[in-house]
Parts: sequence; structure tokens; C-alpha cells
Amino acid sequence: MSDAAGPAVGIDLGTTYSVLAHVDNTGRPWTISNAEGEAITPSAVFFDRDQVIVGKPAVKAAEFEPARVAQFVKRQMGESYYGTPIGGRSFPPEVLQALVLRKLCDDACLRLNPFTKAVITVPAYFNEPRRRATQDAGHLAGLEVLDIINEPTAAALAFGVQQGFLTRSGESPQPETLLVYDLGGGTFDVTLMEIDGPQYRTLATAGDVHLGGMDWDQRLIDRVAERFLAQFGVDPRQDEQAMARLHWEVIEAKHALSARNVVTLQFAWDGHRMRSTVSREQFESLTGELLDRTLLTLRRVLKESGRTWNQVTRLLLVGGATRMAMVQQMLHRETGLEPDRSLAADEAVAHGAAIYAALLTQSDHPQYRGVSVRNVNSHDLGVLAIESQTGMRRRQVLIPRNSPLPAVGVCDFVTQRDGQSNVRVNVIEGGDVTGAHATPIGKCVVAKLPPNLPARSRVRVSFDYSASGLLNVGAALPGTGRHAAITIRRTSNLDEDALTAWQDAIQRGELLDKGDLIEPHADASKTAGESDSSEEGVSPSGPASAAEDAKLQAFLQGNISAR
Ligand code: ADP
Ligand code: MG
Repeated sequence: MSDAAGPAVGIDLGTTYSVLAHVDNTGRPWTISNAEGEAITPSAVFFDRDQVIVGKPAVKAAEFEPARVAQFVKRQMGESYYGTPIGGRSFPPEVLQALVLRKLCDDACLRLNPFTKAVITVPAYFNEPRRRATQDAGHLAGLEVLDIINEPTAAALAFGVQQGFLTRSGESPQPETLLVYDLGGGTFDVTLMEIDGPQYRTLATAGDVHLGGMDWDQRLIDRVAERFLAQFGVDPRQDEQAMARLHWEVIEAKHALSARNVVTLQFAWDGHRMRSTVSREQFESLTGELLDRTLLTLRRVLKESGRTWNQVTRLLLVGGATRMAMVQQMLHRETGLEPDRSLAADEAVAHGAAIYAALLTQSDHPQYRGVSVRNVNSHDLGVLAIESQTGMRRRQVLIPRNSPLPAVGVCDFVTQRDGQSNVRVNVIEGGDVTGAHATPIGKCVVAKLPPNLPARSRVRVSFDYSASGLLNVGAALPGTGRHAAITIRRTSNLDEDALTAWQDAIQRGELLDKGDLIEPHADASKTAGESDSSEEGVSPSGPASAAEDAKLQAFLQGNISAR
């Protein structure tokens, strides 16, 4: 049992708010409020002169010292750095997220036995680098990350167990098909999933990591600012402090519009004062286009799942922004279903993560026996190759999007020269057939090939996409019984040395001192197509005859398999 080593917690590391929950010994999940007594903690980090402050005071500080505050960092997970340097230093997003995690855990330690084990949630639509960065944020915070779990899956667990359409052991007495619509502060996620007995299966998922409540805020901000400009001839949008204040006002107005039909907004700047009345109808027409974007995604997910709305048994609303009346009405119109809003929209995900953490640490507990979760990958995973005839880039998909996980993709390459010592493969996610708009994940380098290997030796690279959506790569030399060492040099995430250095800095609380912090890997700025002169390309990324290329193509496709 986990209790000897402290409890395992579930953490919803959100774009705007984060929540920590844990399951008590009766199996019930609870939100653990922060030191200020609040259930949800703003995911904002303020670098004050001598300390780092996370949460509401950090959001407040943004009003006066926006340049020292990091917010909405989740949107940049998977990138090398958070948008703007703070105090002269560029921070990787995972470091900033680690500081949010530390605050949640330090506060929770006031109420729980000390713990290190946690499950952290990610949007189902998060790609591999964003998942990896989330896991690294957990390590940086000193946590043992038991697993990362998709937010809709966590929500389904929470609703199901607490609403009783799942048994207390998380099993469904009859098959359920759930639609989880999650509109948070900065991300949107929609997932169709099936629960049959103890099996959780994601049917399809899609989303937008750049769409959330803050986009609704922005529409209101623009409306107020334009009116202000029209009335007084000055535009408050040029003043960062004024904008932070206006943002607060707008958020309050938006929340009030979920309960009332009309609100009045007051805003003063540059010696002028303005009162502005906004009706729900006006708000809805200002933001209708944003809602339509979620509707298109919703329809796409239904189509890809091969289901119809009347096969869907439940509609779960997750994310604070689903409190807006327009969201509920649109969903009802589209699906004919009555939304289940029985759990607090902003806490359900953390509760599900806590249930999942209990499930992982207490699998001997009769209550949790047998539940299994099956996810799909949300983006095509492939390699980038150069077509020898045309010299054009093309993408070779190894694990297509929405494949059940875990999945394995195998890809054979041939060496080009006698005695070639290494092989380099560019791994990408998403994008189109030419590889455009793809996210470069990294460069796999198969190094130390055995000496004297003849040209055209086969090197088999396998991509293993784990159940939680993380990628591991392996390499073998088929028919020789020999193996090769493989490393993945990630395009953006932190390498081991950088992780250790940042972890020390976080522990010592020395984040703004100049000194010994290691910058991310020098490759960070490179695209997937570039190469180091010390590494050699391989067919199909190197020159090969057309026939060879065609053969390889067949080879690649013939070997794609899902476990
Ligand atoms: P995330 O998981 O992305 O951090 P949350 O699920 O906590 O986000 O949702 C935060 C968003 O929900 C914010 O944009 C917030 O303004 C919005 N929100 C919260 N309560 C309401 C409400 N009553 N009406 C409208 N929007 C709300
Ligand atoms: Mg959320």
C-alpha cells in the first residue's frame, strides 16, 4: 500500500489554473486546497527580487510588473523557451511548470502526509514533446511521476465513479460512449471514449492548444478598448499595466455573464473613465466564431470515431469555460444530449488523476482491480525522408493518428557506404505529406555501428509509443544478432545535464542568478531536416536509386504495426 510512503496525488496542471487532489481511504477524491485556502491555484509564476511566488499574488503582480511574471506556460510546453526572458534569463517552460507543481505540492504537504508520487494530466491532444516536457516538469519538481494521463480520461473516471455510472471499482455495468468536451483557459480538447466493464478506450480525440477562455476574454478586451479609443482618442492596449487591469475586469464580467443577462464593466485609464454595458447576446455574437471552431472539431471527432450522436450515451463538461451558457446550448443543439455538469468543471480532472494515482499505487486494493485505460495517439508519428528522384522532402508515417496505444512502428533503413558508423533519422509528428507544418521531435542517432559493416546493411529503427503517449526508440541490425546504441536528440526538450542543472537551481531557489545553468541543447534551433557533418544520412534520406526508394517505401509500410 502506498500510505507508508505517503499518498499518491493527482495533479491537473492547467493553462490558467492548477489543482491537486487525493483519494482518501474510502476511495473518495478530494481537492486539497492551497495554503491560501483555495481549491484552484492560478498557474502563474512571479519572480520577485528574492523569491519566486506562485498563484494569485503572481497574477496580481502581473498588473504592475508584467515582465517578471510567467503565465499560460502550458501553451508553450514542448518549446525550448517560455516566450519572453524574465529578469534577463530565458526559462524553459518545464522549469516554470515545475515551480507551479512545487507550490501545489508544498501546500498539499501541509494537509497530507509527505508524498512524492503523482499522476499529472495532459490534454489528449498534446503531442509527444509536450507530454515529455510535462513529465520533465514533474521530475524537476522532485516528483516521482507515476504516469501522465489524458485529461478526458481522468474526467471520465471522476464523473463515472462519483456519479455512479461506473461502479466504485471504476467499471461500467453497461457499455458507455462518452463525449468529453473540455474548454479550459487556454486549451480545448474533445474526446470520444468508450467504457466497457473495466476497459477504457479512446475512440478519437482532437483539440486546439491555442483556444480557450482567454480567447473569449480577448474579444471582450478588444471591444472595451475600441470603445475607449472611439470615445477618448487613446488606446489602452498600448499600456501593459492597464491591459492587465482590464483583463481582470473582463474575466469578472465574463463569469457574471454565465449567470446573468447583462453586466456593466468599468474601466479607467489615462484620466478617463468608461462604463460599458455588455449583454449576453452581444458577448455571444462577439465570440460566436470561437464557439464555431470548437463545433468543427467536435464534428471531426465524431466522424473519425465512426459513431453517430445517438450512439453517445453521456456528455461530460469539463473546464471552467464550459460554464458559459453558449457552450451548453450549442452542445445540446448539436448532440441532443443533456450535458452532465454534476462535478465542478475545474476540479473533475484532478479528481480523476487522483483516482488513477490510487489505482496505480493500490492495485492490490479490491476497489481498483482490473481497470485498464487505452489511449490513442493524437498526431501522426513518422520520419522525414528525402525523395531521391525529386529531392523533395516527404513524410513517412509510422504510427498513424488515433492508433490505439501502445503502438510500435518499425522502419528499416540501409547504410550507404561500407564501414558507415552511424545513422541519423529525423522523427516528426503531425504535418502534411511533405512534412510541412510537422513538429520536429528529434533526431535519432544510431551510433557505434559494428565496424566493417558493408554498404546496404539494414538498420531497423523501432518507435515504441507507450500507453501514455511517450516515445521510446530502439535500433537493431536484423539478421546479425547485433544491436546498436540509439539516442534521441530532442529538438526542444531539455537533455539530462540541463535537467540536473535546473533541478539543482530550483532546489536551491537560485533561479535568477547568473551562473552555471546549462542552456538547452545546441540543436534546439535546428529543424528536423538539418544534419550535423559528423553524422551520416541513410536511404531513404540519402541518395538512392528510384527502385531502391520504391522498395524501401514498401518496406516501411509493410512493417508498420500496432500491438
Ligand atoms: P485550465 O484547465 O485551462 O487551466 P480551467 O478549467 O480552470 O482552465 O478554466 C479556466 C477558464 O474558465 C478561464 O478562462 C476562466 O475565465 C473560465 N471560467 C471559469 N469560471 C467561469 C464562468 N463562471 N463563466 C465563464 N468562464 C469561466
Ligand atoms: Mg484543464
